[in-house]
Amino acid sequence: MTCPWCENPNVQESVKDCYWIMPDGKRAVQIKDVPAIACPSCGLFVTEATSQNIDDRLYWNDVTALGPAFTYEELLKAPRLKNWFLK
Ligand SMILES: [Zn+2]
Repeated sequence: MTCPWCENPNVQESVKDCYWIMPDGKRAVQIKDVPAIACPSCGLFVTEATSQNIDDRLYWNDVTALGPAFTYEELLKAPRLKNWFLK
């Protein structure tokens, strides 16, 4: 694997604790152990695909029971909002 920014070949898979703004923009949550890439030049960062996945999950999954801080794993396991399309 190489760094998508500087193409440094010495990147390693890692995890990162992130603060994320909820889709409604009203509050932020802390997400721990998010899959990340550690680059010697650019530092520790979350890829675009993972970032997009988190945005989708926060939008579609019910994370209210998880409180203000949870792990990436817990986010993936959170139940989907079922009544989203009900009118
Ligand atoms: Zn880099």
